[in-house]
Amino acid sequence: MICLGIESTAHTFGIGIVTDKGKVLANVKDVFTTKTGGIVPAKAAEHHAAVCDEVVKKALETAKLKIEDIDLIAFSQSPGLGHTLRIGAFAARDLSLIYKKPLVGVNHCIAHLEIGRLLTDAKDPVLLYVSGANTQIIAYDAGKYRVFGESLDGGVGNFLDTFARELGLGFPGGPRIAELAGKGKEFIELPYSVKGMDISLGGLLTNLKQKLKSGKYRKEDLAYSIQETVFAMLLEVSERAMAHCGKEELLLGGGVACNTRLQEMAKKMCEERKSKCFVLENQFNVDNGAMIAWLGIVMHKAGIKTRIEDSEIKPYERTDDVKVTWR
Ligand code: AMP
Ligand code: MG
Repeated sequence: MICLGIESTAHTFGIGIVTDKGKVLANVKDVFTTKTGGIVPAKAAEHHAAVCDEVVKKALETAKLKIEDIDLIAFSQSPGLGHTLRIGAFAARDLSLIYKKPLVGVNHCIAHLEIGRLLTDAKDPVLLYVSGANTQIIAYDAGKYRVFGESLDGGVGNFLDTFARELGLGFPGGPRIAELAGKGKEFIELPYSVKGMDISLGGLLTNLKQKLKSGKYRKEDLAYSIQETVFAMLLEVSERAMAHCGKEELLLGGGVACNTRLQEMAKKMCEERKSKCFVLENQFNVDNGAMIAWLGIVMHKAGIKTRIEDSEIKPYERTDDVKVTWR
C-alpha cells in the first residue's frame, strides 16, 4: 500500500509518499516565506493553492509513480491555521473523490511522533516537539498521546523568529540566531521561566527587547544566552516528563529540533540519566508530507477512515483529543 500525505498546517505545503513498509519514496515541499513580518494566514493559503499541483507532480516524479498507483490519501486535518489547513483538506478531498481513494485525516503533532518511531529505534519515546507555533512535551499514556508540558505563550520557533526580527535578521530566525550564538562569548543571565511542567517565553521576550534597546549587550552574547536558557528550560521539563512516565527515550521533533546546540544538550541530559536520545534528519524535523503519509498508513491499518462529510478541518484540536487505537 502506498500513501500520499498532504501537509498544510502553516507555512509549509508538503507532499510525502510512503509505503506501508515505511519506505519514504518522496518528501517534497514548498515553503511560504516573507522578507519582513510574520506569516499572514491568507497569504500563506494563496501560496499553498498556487504551488499545490506542482508539488504533487514533483512528489510523484520523485517516487516514479502515477497518481493511479496511490492507494490512500492522508492530510493534516489538525491543528493549525484555518486558512492553510483548508487548502490541504481541499486537495485531499479532490484527489480522494476523483481517483476513488480512501481518505484519512491526521493530527499533525502526532505525525511528528509517529515518524520518529518509524525512522529511529525509538519505541515509546517522550517527544520534545518544538516548532514555530507548537512547543509540547508529548508521550503515550493509557490510549492517548498526552501533553505533559507545553509553552504557555507561543512556540519556541515563533519566539526565536520574533527576536530575530528585532535584530533585523529576517525569517526564519531560528537558524540565524543559532549562527550568531556560535559567536557568543559571554553568558548573560536571562529570566528562566519554568512553571510546573510548562514554560513561558513572554517575559523573556520583553526582557530581551529592553536589553537590546539599552545597547549594553552584544547581539552574539544575547543569541548565545537565549539558546542556553530556553533549551535548558525545554530539557528540564522533558526530563521531568521522562521521569514521571518512566520512559527512557527522548525524541526531538519540529523545526527547532534542527538546532545542533539543542541536540547536544538533549543528548547530554539523556546520557546523564542513562536514556537514549533520538534525532531525525532535518527534513523530518520540519513540517513535512512524509510524516502525514506515514500516520495515514498507521491509522488506515487500524481501520480508521475519514468520510468526506467528516473531513472538515480542526484548527484547534489538541494532541490528547485523539483516541489512539493503533497502539
Ligand atoms: P516548523 O514549524 O516545525 O516547520 O519549524 C519552523 C521553526 O523552526 C521556525 O520558527 C524556525 O525559526 C525554526 N528553526 C529552523 N531551524 C532552526 C535551527 N537550526 N535552530 C533553531 N530554530 C530553527
Ligand atoms: Mg510541525
